[in-house]
Amino acid sequence: MATLAPAATNVCRACGRPLQPGLFCPYDGVFILDPQGTTVMASRISRLGASIVNAILIVLTLGIGWIIWWFIVAPRGQNPGKAVVGLRVIRADGRAVSTGWMFVRGLLTFVGGLIPLYLDDLWLLWDQNAQTLHDKMAATVVVRAQGSEHIVLRGSVGELPAGYTPPPAFAPPVSFPATAEPARSTPAAMPPGDSPAEALRRLEDLKSRGLITDEEYAVKRATIVDRL
Ligand SMILES: [Zn+2]
Repeated sequence: MATLAPAATNVCRACGRPLQPGLFCPYDGVFILDPQGTTVMASRISRLGASIVNAILIVLTLGIGWIIWWFIVAPRGQNPGKAVVGLRVIRADGRAVSTGWMFVRGLLTFVGGLIPLYLDDLWLLWDQNAQTLHDKMAATVVVRAQGSEHIVLRGSVGELPAGYTPPPAFAPPVSFPATAEPARSTPAAMPPGDSPAEALRRLEDLKSRGLITDEEYAVKRATIVDRL
């Protein structure tokens, strides 16, 4: 992922092994943006379990009880099935989800359910971050409830580890193979919506870390100055 710092500084907080592109350590599933290193990706089988529990609870409570329960657990990034199994939804950039965000994610789950062959949910089986398509649309990931409590308490994972940049708010469901120089071809210094001052600051930072050449720096700086 082009947004991550060079590999040399990219090691897992928990096991110290080098990280691959993706939001979780490939060895122990630790969420790479968590400075505490205790937030761990939910297993795919537990995700399936939560879906089954939700379906059973909706039938048993005629829907009404499930909805009431939902409002109790949604502020913690859960729905009743996830609360029972011990899972939590967080935003892919390390922030906690609000009840409103959970509601939108829930609506996207219904929309995703219209996609044939259960493709929306099955997507998590082969996705690097175990995201469903509705997770992709809502920019969320699902982690174990245990170990991620601090995200709910603080509203985010807290101070990001040095060198990490949060992923974009919306990630496409398919990640294409990286080109020879992904960091150089995408102007990471100028995400859309950035103020020129902020873009300049990022650009300076990239240059000082040796991630772009002087020539690229000059070209990008000129582009930003044009926007002023
Ligand atoms: Zn690890």
